[in-house]
Amino acid sequence: MAQILDGKWVRDEILKEWKPRAAALSAQRRQPGLAVILVGNDPASEIYVRNKERASLEMGIYSEKYTPPADISTKDLLALVESLNARVEIDGILIQTPLPAHIDTRQVLVAVRPDKDVDGFHPVNVGNLVANVPGPRPCTPAGIVQLLKKYEIPIAGQHAVVVGRSNIVGKPMALLLLHENATVTICHSRTANLVTECRRADILVAAMGRPAMLTADYIGEGATVVDVGMNRIENRAEAERIFGKMPEKMSAFEKKGSVLVGDVDPSAMMERASAYTPVPGGVGPLTIAMLMMNTVESAERRLA
Ligand code: NDP
Repeated sequence: MAQILDGKWVRDEILKEWKPRAAALSAQRRQPGLAVILVGNDPASEIYVRNKERASLEMGIYSEKYTPPADISTKDLLALVESLNARVEIDGILIQTPLPAHIDTRQVLVAVRPDKDVDGFHPVNVGNLVANVPGPRPCTPAGIVQLLKKYEIPIAGQHAVVVGRSNIVGKPMALLLLHENATVTICHSRTANLVTECRRADILVAAMGRPAMLTADYIGEGATVVDVGMNRIENRAEAERIFGKMPEKMSAFEKKGSVLVGDVDPSAMMERASAYTPVPGGVGPLTIAMLMMNTVESAERRLA
């Protein structure tokens, strides 16, 4: 029986470890502070931001939310970021993406002071990641490393295959695994022999945004599979194709009219992996926990 890697348990463990550190700062100096900017009213982003506010409250982090309208100009958004950069009691600035198309996203992300960049997206922090110098790490991949460690899954000397090379998941994931001494292969849409590459993995990380694409053929017997994908299926035929052997998922589909699936075929993971992250409840909960950790760590550094 494959082991389920429970992201909610890991999230709770991380929050338990970091809450006393936030409390110590509050008692000795001041509360760590996080500002979240949510432009426009994308419903998915609103849910993420609400969850971040809830987690901040639970952690004892002071949080502020800014909700400029969707038609805000890049100039006005930059002015907001500058005002937050200047405030001593704000340790972290998070800009919820995606931003509306007319906004120069890169210019806005780069405007955040590197020591307040709790997403780890600023070029200075990307450089620190490449050089393995301390600094904030992108939340989702950093959370995955925590998950592997909490479950005592060996990383050093293992062959890790990361499918996906985005700046927010695939590339930082590969670098973090490399720093943990894995031998790392990065795959992408132009990889010639994806099945062969994936089958060689001791640790397989799927981050393509392609519903249930990695079937049993891609998974080596006994691999640890981390499924980052988060895809909402609204088409009945596709839901039946993926969840044909999982009646509880089909009844969830019937109730809601949609169901979430990762980038790995769930039945294949159960059959072939030795351990895997479910979707939902695997990687998802880790991202916010790491944001909380990055905010407290940023406050500790800035107050040191
Ligand atoms: P991107 O779209 O930015 O990147 C996708 C990557 O997958 C690209 O590098 C692309 O290759 C590669 N890819 C796409 N199709 C294939 C294919 N057929 N074969 C091999 N590689 C392929 O996505 P993100 O990195 O932002 O996100 C990936 C997934 O993770 C999404 O489902 C997203 O929703 C989820 N996600 C989940 C989070 C969580 O908290 N659980 C957080 C962040 C993301 P190429 O570069 O060649 O185009």
